[in-house]
Amino acid sequence: MLQAPVKPLSRAPLTDPFGRDISYLRISVTDRCDFRCVYCMSEDMAFLPKRDLLTLEEIDRVASAFVMRGTRKLRITGGEPLVRRDIMNLFRSLSRHLASGALDELTLTTNGSQLARYAQELADCGVRRVNVSLDTLDPDKFRKITRWGDLAKVLAGIEAARAAGLRVKINAVALKGVNEDEIEGLMQWAHGLGMDLTLIEVMPLGEIEPARLDQFLPLSLVRARLMERYTLDDDPYRTGGPARYVRVAETGGLVGFITPMTHNFCESCNRVRLTCTGTLYMCLGQEDAADLRAPIRASGDDALLYRAMDEAIARKPKGHDFVIDRRRPRAAVGRHMSVTGG
Ligand code: SAM
Repeated sequence: MLQAPVKPLSRAPLTDPFGRDISYLRISVTDRCDFRCVYCMSEDMAFLPKRDLLTLEEIDRVASAFVMRGTRKLRITGGEPLVRRDIMNLFRSLSRHLASGALDELTLTTNGSQLARYAQELADCGVRRVNVSLDTLDPDKFRKITRWGDLAKVLAGIEAARAAGLRVKINAVALKGVNEDEIEGLMQWAHGLGMDLTLIEVMPLGEIEPARLDQFLPLSLVRARLMERYTLDDDPYRTGGPARYVRVAETGGLVGFITPMTHNFCESCNRVRLTCTGTLYMCLGQEDAADLRAPIRASGDDALLYRAMDEAIARKPKGHDFVIDRRRPRAAVGRHMSVTGG
C-alpha cells in the first residue's frame, strides 16, 4: 500500500502580523533564584513544583524548533539560570547550533553568584558574552537590595568570567533613592574594566512590597545628570535587545538605556519568551501566552509544536502599555520578572 508522503516541517521564518521577524528567544529555565531582589520578588515567593517544569531535554527541543524557524539568538535566564541543576547540559547541547552556524549567539543573564564555578564551561560551550545584574558596589546596599546576596561572590564571578574570556556587560536597575547616587561610580568601575553598563528602568511586574512609584527613576533624568559631567554620543551599537547606547567620550565605554517606561521600544521587538513550564509569552508586558508544553508532550514529532508556535506568533501584540501611576497602585502585569525572565 502506498503511504502518503510525510510533509516536511516548515522552515519558514516566524514573522508576526506587524512584519517583525522573531529572531530572539529568551528562555527562563527556572523561576527559582538564590537572591530576592526587592524590585523583583517578594521575600516569601511561592515557587513552582518541579513536576511542572520542562525537562532540559524539552527546553532543548523547543529552543531547537525556534532555531529551525529563524531564531538567531538564545538567551538563557530565570530566576537564576545557574541554580538549575545540570544546566550546563543544556548549554552543551544548544552549542551544536552555534557549531552548525544556525545560531549567532548563545548567551545568558545571571546574578553572577555561581559564575566563578561555571564561567570556563560556559566559554567552552561557545558563550561569548554574559550579562551580569549588579545594582550597587556597596556590600551593605547590595545585601539590602538582593536581601540574600553576597557582593564578594558576584565580583569573584565577574572576574572568573573575564578570565575565561567572556565579555561581561553589567545590567543595573536604576532605583530612586537607592543607587541613583552610584550610577556614575558603577559606570566608572565597569568602563575601567572594559565592561559596558546598561541601565534599566524598573517595570511594574508582579506584586512586591515596596510601592513601584517609590522605586521608579526615569532614565531621562539619569542621562541628563550624566550629561552634566560627561560627553555622551549616540552610538549605533546594538545587541539585538532593546537597549539604546551612548559612547562616553571620557571613558571610552558604552552606556545602554532600557527605557520601557519613558520610551517604548516595541516597534522593533524581535523577541518572545519561554517560561520554565513551557508557556510562551509574546510580550513581556502583556498577559496573552501560548502553551508549548502540551504539544511537545502530546507527540514526539514537532508538527503540533510548530503549529502552536505559528498560532502564537500570529497573536504577538504590537506592544506593551506599562504605566506606573498613583491611580493604578497594582502591578500592570501580575507575573514577576522571575517568571518570564529578564
Ligand atoms: N537572575 C538573573 C539576573 O539576576 O540577571 C536573571 C533573571 S533577572 C529577573 C533579569 C533582570 O531583570 C535583572 O537584571 C533584574 O535586575 C531585572 N529585573 C527584575 N525585576 C525587574 C523589574 N521589575 N523591572 C526592571 N528590571 C527588573
